[in-house]
Amino acid sequence: MEEDRKVLEEFEHFFDVTAVRDESQIVREFGRGLTFLNFSPIVERAFLRYYLSKYIWQMRIAASLGVLLYAVFGILDMIVFPEVALKLWFIRFVLVIPLGLLFIFLSFRINNESLLQLLHSFLVVVGGLGIVAMIYVAHPYKSHLYYAGLMLVLFYAYTLSALRFYYSLASSLAITFLYPFVDLIFVKTPLENLITNMFFLGSVNLIGAPVAYLLERHSRKDFLLTMLLALEKRKTEQLNVKLRDMSYVDGLTGVANRLKFEEFFRKEWVRAGRMKRPISLLMIDIDYFKNYNDLLGHLEGDECLRKVAQVMKRHVRTEIDLVARYGGEEFVVVLPETELRDALKVADRIRKDIEDLKIAHPASEISNYVTVSIGVASIVPMDNLSRTVLISMADKALYRAKNSGRNRVEFYQPEDTPNYRKPS
Ligand code: GH3
Ligand code: MG
Ligand code: MG
Repeated sequence: MEEDRKVLEEFEHFFDVTAVRDESQIVREFGRGLTFLNFSPIVERAFLRYYLSKYIWQMRIAASLGVLLYAVFGILDMIVFPEVALKLWFIRFVLVIPLGLLFIFLSFRINNESLLQLLHSFLVVVGGLGIVAMIYVAHPYKSHLYYAGLMLVLFYAYTLSALRFYYSLASSLAITFLYPFVDLIFVKTPLENLITNMFFLGSVNLIGAPVAYLLERHSRKDFLLTMLLALEKRKTEQLNVKLRDMSYVDGLTGVANRLKFEEFFRKEWVRAGRMKRPISLLMIDIDYFKNYNDLLGHLEGDECLRKVAQVMKRHVRTEIDLVARYGGEEFVVVLPETELRDALKVADRIRKDIEDLKIAHPASEISNYVTVSIGVASIVPMDNLSRTVLISMADKALYRAKNSGRNRVEFYQPEDTPNYRKPS
């Protein structure tokens, strides 16, 4: 569960969620995208962000290690080339290492993956050229001794650096081809030395490049799988939300169903009790609805239920109140934080608006139109009082309304507020 959420968060982080519609967009990338290490633009952009966040520290640590090694080899300069050690140090400590440190510094400032790759490749090439320069400076002494440093640089580029394949390949090849160029023109080592060195350098490329390719391919695959998982998770969550919503809605009228009412009412009852605040309940029943159905048919009856329910929805506060179908042609309205006086006002508005709909009701004994009777009850829940009390109060009020002529609002309240006057 925890793991799942992390994956999802990662997903939201790397994707503009609206950009990826479905998993086929990801699945497609498993072919060409993986082989050529290049996804389609949207996915590629997300991958680069993913790659950066995953490897930025490896890059920094690799660069630090590289800089450290580059410095430590200064000791070797003194041992092997004491005559030109100062020149070698100049190359090491003035030309190359500051650039390395600058790169590490910039890696904290720049969060463009491609730009960092470019800078890192540049650093690798500079490191390689530094060694080529040292080989040149050290000649005519045993300059070939330092050529092994080039292999180290290539090794670095292909593995620890976290350079992506094309970047490591480009920088390694640049070094591989610049070295013999400088050697032929300036150093002029015996040809057999140069040829031998090129064989070795070439081999390092041959072994290193596939490693870099496979490393990047793996992290791309890893990325795609993670994204698929995240998409799957998002789909399941959306489905869950949809299912839950569906299980709470009355199919006919679109208002909340009985289940939702029970849950909502239970929660609000507890809250009202804790806060010592009033909570009101309206119980609404259509007058002579059986006659309506009998005369006009159930389809007309259903349509009438829909219209009546919509009126109720209009008169409540979304997010705070709840209109629910209690069963058949009976509805309830829960009004948290509402005193009897205000609940009665809401009830009367609903009653009047439904009458004003002027839905013809030829079988009504009291009107030409569809009307409702409403029972209202309000209470501040006391300790241990069951919430069914409020329901039965509203029920009693409803029957009072039915018995005293219908198309009216009646209320019922605990005897402790007998002086309450119903608004006219
Ligand atoms: P009163 O004024 O006393 O409320 O009379 P009434 O006829 O409305 O009361 P009663 O409870 O006897 O009738 C309820 C009727 O509501 C019965 C049924 O025909 C109708 N009814 C219940 N559920 C539905 C429904 O989902 N669709 C339709 N069309 N009618 C329904
Ligand atoms: Mg009824
Ligand atoms: Mg009825």
